Amino acid sequence: MADAEPDEATLPTEAGLAESLTHCEDETMIPVLASRRASELPVNEVACLLQAELQYGLTHSEVSRRRAYHGWNEFEISEEEPLWRKYLSQFKDPLILLLLASAVISILMRQFDDAVSITVAIIIVVTVAFVQEYRSEKSLEELGKLVPPECHCVREGHLEHLLARELVPGDTVCLSVGERVPADLRLFEAADLSVDESSLTGETAPCSKSTAPQPAGANGHITSRSNIAFMGTLVRCGKAKGIVIGTGENSEFGEVFKMMQAEEAPKTPLQKSMDLLGKQLSLYSFGIIGVIMLVGWLQGKHLLDMFTIGVSLAVAAIPEGLPIVVTVTLALGVMRMVKKRAIVKKLPIVETLGCCNVICTDKTGTLTKNEMTVTRVFSADGLHAEVTGVGYNGVGEVLLDGEMVHSFSNSSISKIVEAGCICNDSLIRNNTLMGRPTEGALIALAMKMGLEGVQQEYIRREEHPFSSEQKWMAVRSVHRTQQDKLGVYYMKGAYEQVIQFCSSYNSKGLTLPLNGQQRELYQQQKSYMGTAGLRVLAFASGAELGALSFLGLVGMIDPPREGVKEAVGMLISSGVAVKMVTGDSQETAVSIASRLGLYTKGSQSLSGDEVDQMDLLQLSHLVSRIVVFYRASPRHKLKIVKALQHIGAVVAMTGDGVNDAVALKAADIGVAMGQTGTDVCKEAADMILVDDDFQTIMSAIEEGKGIYNNIKNFVRFQLSTSIAALTLISLATLMNFPNPLNAMQILWINIIMDGPPAQSLGWSLWTGT
Ligand code: ATP
Repeated sequence: MADAEPDEATLPTEAGLAESLTHCEDETMIPVLASRRASELPVNEVACLLQAELQYGLTHSEVSRRRAYHGWNEFEISEEEPLWRKYLSQFKDPLILLLLASAVISILMRQFDDAVSITVAIIIVVTVAFVQEYRSEKSLEELGKLVPPECHCVREGHLEHLLARELVPGDTVCLSVGERVPADLRLFEAADLSVDESSLTGETAPCSKSTAPQPAGANGHITSRSNIAFMGTLVRCGKAKGIVIGTGENSEFGEVFKMMQAEEAPKTPLQKSMDLLGKQLSLYSFGIIGVIMLVGWLQGKHLLDMFTIGVSLAVAAIPEGLPIVVTVTLALGVMRMVKKRAIVKKLPIVETLGCCNVICTDKTGTLTKNEMTVTRVFSADGLHAEVTGVGYNGVGEVLLDGEMVHSFSNSSISKIVEAGCICNDSLIRNNTLMGRPTEGALIALAMKMGLEGVQQEYIRREEHPFSSEQKWMAVRSVHRTQQDKLGVYYMKGAYEQVIQFCSSYNSKGLTLPLNGQQRELYQQQKSYMGTAGLRVLAFASGAELGALSFLGLVGMIDPPREGVKEAVGMLISSGVAVKMVTGDSQETAVSIASRLGLYTKGSQSLSGDEVDQMDLLQLSHLVSRIVVFYRASPRHKLKIVKALQHIGAVVAMTGDGVNDAVALKAADIGVAMGQTGTDVCKEAADMILVDDDFQTIMSAIEEGKGIYNNIKNFVRFQLSTSIAALTLISLATLMNFPNPLNAMQILWINIIMDGPPAQSLGWSLWTGT
């Protein structure tokens, strides 16, 4: 339940606030409050110290002034090493040092030609390695900037959507489920707020937060500061408002960040195996080179010649640049995926994408456009109305037997539309929807009937919010003119859920008892609409939640996205199975899946309840044949992923809600929605689809396969050049022939054979040519 501290002090009257501000106004200094001190003080004192207005927020000019003083809400990346030093550090490689030594020896022996050639060769080898490493670093840096954190902040009385870096101390920030806390906040309103602080404390259990001040001295450790939301933590549940007390390095996360900077990013499995391969090859090459030098020396060849040949061979044969090439290739590939609107957060995922063979995808918004429009209304007393027009506007009509229904001209139809408006959290303003598309479609329906004002005529007294687990939403509301009354419950949701709360039905304003025949009729209508691919919502209202009166059904279309059908076709033909996991009913899900070419003859569907009843083994026997999982909720996704992994599949799973996070973590490739996805979900994911489009997954998989193959080919190429050089010199030496190549020739061949292919490989991946 909502919690605000202390009632009067937290939400001060404007006059009171103005007074407190004048008392503590100090034009020059806006302090940053340590979270410990802020947690001990009452909110109004914190606001006073920070010269902030809790509900109105800061003014834009004040924000600029504070930014000039405190800087941006971000972390300073540590001083970069100058380029010349990075370049010189390439010379520390022992092989390069050996080559340098042989150049010096050549000078001493007055073989100036050799000395010059070796030096030029060294410079080229070192420059190529330097350019590769520099590019790899830059691309990795770019990756970090791809998903800038955002936040909701109140400024000059308006809620604004900003980049988190724009926050300054004293800003008022609103938090909701799934969001990342953008700065250290002293909370002043909190409703059922619980926060995952594992990024800060390592504690995985979410920690519940309130607004009450902590007793002084009792909050030594940050985990005990229960009225502070720390930067970088994640809101698991509830809503809250807080005032920014610390930004950037002045936040508690600043300390952790400094530690993180010292940590190197872990290597990908491919990088690790390349490191190992490089080491093994070096060992063998050194062995062979040692033997060549020894034999050459025994044959009476010049020792310096054998030494320079040995060192040149080592430079040519040892693939010391291999791990770097792999990193550059992966990083540049990832940047290329960004252009295709897929953000891959971790390099290893590029490899995993290359071997992915099952994609489990949401329906709404990923396969379909998530642009809902009501096309049919069926009332509990058996009337069918058709609805025309598309989009979130009032253009279109509701037609009953060819006649227009307007306002309350037909009570059965109007009651459904009225319930859809009252039990609704969304708004349409200037033809723009603010809220959920399913609810927007209901408001657009009301606009077509001239009933959109109904939403404002009621005051909400109680609310049961919608969740994908529950699949229904209900409110208890009273008309503004009857505020003394208890009010009426209005419910909307999946038919199977809503009907369970009903004991009667509405027939032209009368409430009649619900019998088996009626239920059967509604069930038939629901299936009929679903089979046509419509999303079906049922409506009910009444004085008691357990004994509501059924009002009717509404069917809305959500057209498939363009290009998805082709993408599905291509994936299936390249051996990647595509499965739909949706909260919608079987009829709707199967109909859309058939339209997209997913569900064909022999395909099967399974409900969330059936998934619940099976154990993992039973599900894994069946899972390869199932194409559609209907009436499924986030918790089923985890079981589906596990069952698929049990049979050896490499699974990509999409998700957007807070509860999807576990399944995304468990999947080999967790895919979050960039637009509709919550921060929690993006956090857990390995890849983010910028435009929520299914086709992007296909592009990413294609890209991953391409990158993987390129790396494999490059390794083969490198090996073959090394083996060729080693074999040639070994055979010549063993057979006591004069050396076919001298040191410089070996080095030059190496430069020509390895340098350009490595560069162009990265370049072709970058440009896509
Ligand atoms: P997915 O994106 O995985 O395909 P979905 O959008 O199909 O998920 P949900 O949003 O969980 O699934 O919806 C499941 C069912 O809940 C819908 O078929 C509908 O009947 C009902 N429903 C959807 N949105 C609302 C809402 N805002 N209020 C009440 N009921 C809803």
